[in-house]
Amino acid sequence: MKPEFQNTSKLGFGCMRLPLLDPQDQKSIDLEQFKEMVDAFIAGGGTYFDTAFVYHEGASETALREALVRRYPRDSFTIATKCLAWAAPDAQTAQSNLGTSLERLGVDYVDFYLLHNVGGARTATFDAYDMWDFARREKAAGRIRNWGFSMHDGPDALDALLRAHPDVDFVQLQVNYLDWDDPVVEARRCMEVAEKHDVPVVIMEPARGGRLADPPPRVAEPLLACRPELSLASWAYRFCYNLPNVLTVLSGMSSPDQVRQNVEEHRGNKPFSPDERAALETARNILSNLASIPCTNCRYCVKGCPEHVVIPEILSLLNLELMTENRDFAKGLYSWQAAPGPASKCIACGACEAMCPQGIDIVRQLEVAVDHFE
Ligand code: SF4
Ligand code: SF4
Repeated sequence: MKPEFQNTSKLGFGCMRLPLLDPQDQKSIDLEQFKEMVDAFIAGGGTYFDTAFVYHEGASETALREALVRRYPRDSFTIATKCLAWAAPDAQTAQSNLGTSLERLGVDYVDFYLLHNVGGARTATFDAYDMWDFARREKAAGRIRNWGFSMHDGPDALDALLRAHPDVDFVQLQVNYLDWDDPVVEARRCMEVAEKHDVPVVIMEPARGGRLADPPPRVAEPLLACRPELSLASWAYRFCYNLPNVLTVLSGMSSPDQVRQNVEEHRGNKPFSPDERAALETARNILSNLASIPCTNCRYCVKGCPEHVVIPEILSLLNLELMTENRDFAKGLYSWQAAPGPASKCIACGACEAMCPQGIDIVRQLEVAVDHFE
């Protein structure tokens, strides 16, 4: 890993779920609580703060200015923020995000700048808006120290992006023990691709949107039997901390107690013992057995679909619902992951089922998806 990235703590502070004074108002961040969280994080050796142009409708960046930038020396922390170019109406607006972020944060430069949620059809917008060269120019100008991108696409897309842009400094990927061998996310292969390109990884979703902090009881059982004193979330974080080529593992924190617990568990982090590894393997097997649709993401089905339904992604979300026993969680992801081709577009022509080597009753499963998620 590049020497300048050897930060002392691998725990990163995600600033997308900060405490609110009014639960109905995303901008009403509780600054006093947030300051307490920042203090506990820094006292525990943390340095990496992760925000974005859109978190808390922009208030996450201004709250960081008040709680962090104005209270600590600039060289004692690093800040990452992000541009969602695909949500901007034109290149000029997308490129103006950086200046606005710097102003809100009250800094002259950001340590990490991300082109956020690259992949799928969104990549074309980053290309059309010239965001890659924009990031290079801003790095040369000193307003960005390191630039990279985040993505939710698979390893082949990651490989293509890193070939096209071999000078990125880092990438941000969704990695956790639930998605490690998932045929759609393919977290293990994504990590291997990043390492092959010698690009360090910021891990997002280490606890899969909090689901691994509160998994179904039968999944939790082997973990609690092995180490009853450890939180279930700590298994998810340790899985990520101990992977090679990891720059930071992000945790979206919402209270001072959560910061203290994460800091404490990070401090106690050790590689898994053989007993712990076996317990985690058992939990992972239980999780994958709960995913009963045997889709391998071979994608033969999508080629002939006249309605461009995103079949493997939808089946993966049905499996996620089964594994987490949480429909609302999967439904929230469906609202954007299935947007390019939702299940309700299916006209039941059957072309996909004729192509599926797993013999999956795709049309029936899409009906279930409409019922559960739309
Ligand atoms: S049955 Fe539905 S999902 Fe399958 S190819 Fe036809 S339209 Fe697409
Ligand atoms: S063809 Fe079958 S196994 Fe392959 S991606 Fe489609 S549904 Fe999944």
